[in-house]
Amino acid sequence: MTISEQELEIFSRQLILKEFDEKTFNYIQKQHVIIIGMGGIGCAVAQYLLTTGIKILTLIDNDKIQKSNLNRQILYSIHHVGKAKVKVAKKILNGINPECKIKTIFQKINGKNIKKYLYKPSLVIDATDNWHTMNLINKFCVKQSIPLISTSVIGFDGQVILFKNIKENHLCLNCIYPNKNEPNLPRCESIGVIGTAAGLTGLIAAQTTINFFTKHIIKNILIIISSKSMKISHINVKKNSGCINNSNKS
Ligand SMILES: [Zn+2]
Repeated sequence: MTISEQELEIFSRQLILKEFDEKTFNYIQKQHVIIIGMGGIGCAVAQYLLTTGIKILTLIDNDKIQKSNLNRQILYSIHHVGKAKVKVAKKILNGINPECKIKTIFQKINGKNIKKYLYKPSLVIDATDNWHTMNLINKFCVKQSIPLISTSVIGFDGQVILFKNIKENHLCLNCIYPNKNEPNLPRCESIGVIGTAAGLTGLIAAQTTINFFTKHIIKNILIIISSKSMKISHINVKKNSGCINNSNKS
């Protein structure tokens, strides 16, 4: 096994599982995951990806830590207030597995830099909370055929969906939410959010990522997490032939 002695100890309980044989675990360790947005979902998804064997991570966020983040952004503490989220996250995550290769980008993703920063990853996780950025990431991942996990959380509820972005089988975020203009979405700043809902959403996104890499995925479902009712629901989603990102349309 190419895994180090130290990692063999860290992941010893997981490696007992028959689903994580040498070949599968080595494959997981070679995957490059980019997380955009290191808020409540981003913190949880990063921590659980790393503790499940993902070793190559890029973290993108341009925010600094505030006290109001601490109810849900579990990688940060009161001593980190004022520091860049990506830098602190890298330090904490490397404390769990020092052998991880974590790249940090203290920038906001935009139309100009997306090509440079989202360069050929294995999968992108969108944990931003901004409709414009979500659409931009979605469009880029469709065009470049990059698998994308789109996430959101508000109040007690979260959503996770995987888009495999296979060229000949188009299904994307815009197929499901074909809003031409930015919708007037409720935001955490005004509606509020419970830390556990952000954490659950991040956990489901992490498991979706691992399932994708280990080929244990359920096709074309939107996962709705309702922390108050303790329900996780699946909604079947279909491609939209009128989607602006459809490859048949120019
Ligand atoms: Zn679409």
